[in-house]
Amino acid sequence: MKSIDLIVPCYNEEAGLEHFVAETNKVIAAIPDYRFRYILVNDGSKDKTYLIMKRLAAQFDNIKYISFSRNFGKEAAMYAGLQHADADYVVVMDADLQHPPAVFPQMIEAMNEGYDCCATKRDEREGESFFRGAFSKLFFRLSNRLTDVKNPYGAMDYRMMTRQMVSVILELSEVQRFSKGIFSWVGFQTKWISFKTVDRELGTSTWKFSSLFKYAIDGITCFSVAPLRFTAVMGAIIFFLSLIYIIATLIQTLFFGIQTPGYVTTLCAVLFLGGLTEMSIGILGEYIGKIYMETKERPIYITKFSNFEDENNEEK
Ligand code: UDP
Ligand code: MG
Repeated sequence: MKSIDLIVPCYNEEAGLEHFVAETNKVIAAIPDYRFRYILVNDGSKDKTYLIMKRLAAQFDNIKYISFSRNFGKEAAMYAGLQHADADYVVVMDADLQHPPAVFPQMIEAMNEGYDCCATKRDEREGESFFRGAFSKLFFRLSNRLTDVKNPYGAMDYRMMTRQMVSVILELSEVQRFSKGIFSWVGFQTKWISFKTVDRELGTSTWKFSSLFKYAIDGITCFSVAPLRFTAVMGAIIFFLSLIYIIATLIQTLFFGIQTPGYVTTLCAVLFLGGLTEMSIGILGEYIGKIYMETKERPIYITKFSNFEDENNEEK
């Protein structure tokens, strides 16, 4: 009998966690050939998520949990889950039922066909604002072009992977994690399936536009130095253009004398170069910041409680 671990990052999910487990259990009950286990990761929730997890773990013996000492972010929660997984197949999914368990059979089928991973992408983006949609389209196009990461538009974290693929992912122990990129970067055969987007039933999404923007920047800078090259190329282009301009101006001054006071030209040049320099420093800073964070080698997450036997730090 093959086993499947379900990794579920949870941050302030008190409203929906029990409903999630109940709904997922219904799906699992219809797949008797596989042994399912939950690995719930409490990412420093400020509500009663942890208590609900403990209650669920007491109720069902296939529920394991890890509870962080504070909020480390969904990426850290996924990593912790992957580290604790030991099943044949490992699933990463959200706790808000926006990642419907109903597609498990489809995923299992793909794995039986020999794929290493069965990932999901959003088919329809109903209810999403035009601005957000355009922004994410631009992001997917840019990151597919600039990096080794190839993800279709609407790709999500929700996926099933083989044990082998998970162990490779765990070897990438970078602190600045961008899972969607890592999943693709490690390679292996991925089958993409899609389903209609569903709205979050309970609780609220914690993503703001600013965090989406940060996510997009990370998606590119974690996997490519193309932005750095862009600044270098821009610098070279401007250098050669100004060389031509300087020579032309010199010749003009030598033969025809100084004509008009070039107020506008000077202002344009100063503003343009100033802007470009600022931007280049910013891009450089983005990478230096990443190097700085990586060199600290801080743990990706810190566990406070867990009911994994070997960790033996269950709350008394
Ligand atoms: N999540 C988490 N840590 C965080 C934020 C979110 O573990 O700091 C979890 C959350 O509980 C959910 C999943 O990540 O299971 C996706 O979060 P959310 O539904 O807020 O994001 P969205 O669906 O809008 O992408
Ligand atoms: Mg959600």
